[in-house]
Amino acid sequence: MPEQKENIVEIRDLRKYYKVKTERLFEKTRWLHAVDGVDLDIRKGETLGIVGESGCGKSTLGHMVLRLRKPTAGTVSYEGFPKGPDRSQMKEFREKFQIIFQDPYSSLNPKKRIGWLLQEPLVIHGIGKDAAERRELAVNMLREVGMDESYMEKFPRELSGGQRQRISIGIAMIMNPDFIVADEPVSALDVSVQAQILNLMKELQEKHGLTWMFISHDLNVVHYISDRIGVMYLGKIVEIGNVEEVYQDPKHPYTKALLSSIPDLDAGPKEHEIIEGDVPSAVDPGPGCAFASRCKYATERCRKETPVLKDIGGRKVSCFLCGSE
Ligand code: SF4
Repeated sequence: MPEQKENIVEIRDLRKYYKVKTERLFEKTRWLHAVDGVDLDIRKGETLGIVGESGCGKSTLGHMVLRLRKPTAGTVSYEGFPKGPDRSQMKEFREKFQIIFQDPYSSLNPKKRIGWLLQEPLVIHGIGKDAAERRELAVNMLREVGMDESYMEKFPRELSGGQRQRISIGIAMIMNPDFIVADEPVSALDVSVQAQILNLMKELQEKHGLTWMFISHDLNVVHYISDRIGVMYLGKIVEIGNVEEVYQDPKHPYTKALLSSIPDLDAGPKEHEIIEGDVPSAVDPGPGCAFASRCKYATERCRKETPVLKDIGGRKVSCFLCGSE
């Protein structure tokens, strides 16, 4: 990938809190911190992988980036929409910033044929001068995602999981977007099919200069597809950097433990760091490092002060053990 410095998306102190249902009258309102102060730059033309355990807030983050969920606080600015799109710009924004969901079966209308599904966004956005031109665009897109014209007349139920995900990618791509959030796009697929879809995503990126935000719990998949990786824990980014550097030499204790669970067939058996204890509750978390209750290096300071992301030679890590703190 060519070196790109420009940011297509800039996220500042982004938060999403959900009110927790109270069980008793006059009970104090409590808040679940799904995303808790994320700062992130997404560079034009890159694939930024966001990885973390289930419930760490990575999907909520992706949805807020695409304005599918309203943040509680913080800002997201976009290339072409530095203050965020206003109402009059939303149509243009939706063309340029797209999403692909995990389960193509539930995200594709089962009553509509593939040709209709591919052409629907074109109709909504007024693209193509007539039905014939929209059909041609749809057929071309089918070819781009490795399928042929015969699929235009099929229903989603007649397709395999991999073919359905190709259609989901085609529906996002037909708008000629600049940026796509892919939310666990291959986790419902067999491993052999996963590789085909990941390769298709890489090809489309090279051909169209796309930027991907790739959200997954699967460390191998994120390693394969990403240029940079952000590791999330309890609503926060705890480490972010070049994917090879992070995988070869993780700095944050959580990243170290997470990556130690990946088997390395070349290097043979390696020490697997067990993360003790359960993920703590994200409801009204107190001060201190979110990982302190499970971290074998935790000190008194870790339980009282909250570490912030600090630059340590091109990588950012939030841990008192890293950098000059
Ligand atoms: Fe562990 Fe402390 Fe670092 Fe948090 S700040 S990861 S508790 S050493």
